Formats: sequence, C-alpha cells, structure tokens
Amino acid sequence: MIKCDFHTHTILCDGENTACEMAEAAYKKGLSAFGFSGHGYTPFDDSYCMSQEDTNQYLTQIQKLKSEYAGKLEIFAGLEADLFSEYDRCRFDYIIGSVHYIKIGNNYIDVDNTSQILKYAADKYFGGDMLSLCEEYYKQIATLQNIDIVGHFDLVTKFCQQEDLFDMTCSRYRMSALSALDILIDKNLIFEVNTGAISRRARTTPYPEPFILKRILERGGQVILSGDAHNTAGICAHFDIAEQLLKSLGFKNVVTITKNGFSEVKL
Ligand SMILES: [Zn+2]
Ligand SMILES: [Zn+2]
Repeated sequence: MIKCDFHTHTILCDGENTACEMAEAAYKKGLSAFGFSGHGYTPFDDSYCMSQEDTNQYLTQIQKLKSEYAGKLEIFAGLEADLFSEYDRCRFDYIIGSVHYIKIGNNYIDVDNTSQILKYAADKYFGGDMLSLCEEYYKQIATLQNIDIVGHFDLVTKFCQQEDLFDMTCSRYRMSALSALDILIDKNLIFEVNTGAISRRARTTPYPEPFILKRILERGGQVILSGDAHNTAGICAHFDIAEQLLKSLGFKNVVTITKNGFSEVKL
C-alpha cells in the first residue's frame, strides 16, 4: 500500500489533532513521506481556515517537525488553498487547489457543507436546476491556477450517494465535469484520489468518480492518493479502496512528493 499522505489538517484549521500528533501518527504508521495541507486563509469565511497569523505559526511548527523527524520521515509544508484563498506560493512546498465555494455575484455558496445549502442555492440562483449549479461549479474549478494538485475534483457530488440530488450519469453533468477536467489536465495539474469522504461517512468511494479517473488515464494525467485527514485516524485511511479502484481502471503509477519535487511510484 502507498505509505504517504499529503492532504492533512491540524487544529490550526478544522482538524482535530496538533501538527505534532499528526507527524507522530504518520511516523508510527510507517509512512515514508507526510505533508500538511492546512486550509489557506479565505477572507469571507474564517470558520474553517487558518488566519494569516495561524499560517505563520503553522509554518514554524512544520519547520520544527521537519528537523525533529529528519532521517526518519520526510515532512512537507503544503497548503490546501480554496479558489478564493489568499496565499504566497513561495512559502509552501506544494499547493492543493480546491473549490469549497462557488461565487455567485457577491455571494459564496458552500458546496462542502450540507445538501440543504446546495438545494437552497439551486432554487435561489438556478431556478431549482441542480445541474446548472454543477455547471457553475465546474466552470469555476476550471479557473484554478497557481497550484500543483487539484483537490477533490467532483466535491459537488458529496451528497449524491445519500440523496437523489442530481443524476451523476447524465450526459449534461458529465460533459461539464469533463470539459473542466480537460482544461485542468492541459495545465499539467495532478489530480487527487481523495478518500476523506469515506472517513467522514459521506461516501463509500473516493473522489473523483470512475468516469473522471478514466479520462485522466486516457489523457496521460497524473493522480495522487489523499486521505484528507482531519485527525490521526484519517492518515492514509481507505487507501486500499483507492488503490484497488485505480488498478482496476488500469493505472500503474501514482504521484508522490520528494525533496526533489513530484515523482511517480508504482501502485
Ligand atoms: Zn477540501
Ligand atoms: Zn482538506
């Protein structure tokens, strides 16, 4: 099994464990590399992200952990930036870019929270048409830039396994997802296979859906496994499910992060 995880959170954002506890757990689980990816500062919603001051503290803590674990565990300082986050890319080893909100006029719709919020937004802004909301989500995710890895590409499907929100198999939905995907593949970005929603019991399969993974493979795109761990138990959690899925689709490699940058390892 792949023993590295680069999508993890701490108490400095919405995680449950300290950076020390997360690093210790990663070491005890036998990981070879471990990356922190706290939520980047997003001015209109400070409930889940790190403030500018938290970010300084975060980087200081990680720097300390890097030397404490030198020779035992390779540690990286990443960031999970929202499309609307403010950050200085040079301060981080890598950036995961995620869309947790879609912007409609001056309003931000939280797509990661509850299905009620999505239904309310579909009614208010899209005449009740959830697929139009999805199209807007994909239009906005296609604009991600200044990042390395695309986080949970089809997050908008978060509640679809529990509720009949929209039909993920219909061609209108698939076309909007795939056209955004093609744009992001052309930007040479890496795509997460994110098991976080399995840990949080929202889904039984990782993001993204197999039809999206197939297109990434066909187009020669790259994927990386992500636990999106908000506590120590979430580190590399359900990677067996993700690996099995990738192998069944024909993937041979996944991306990892090394001191010399991104490289591929065999599945
Ligand atoms: Zn996220
Ligand atoms: Zn995350």
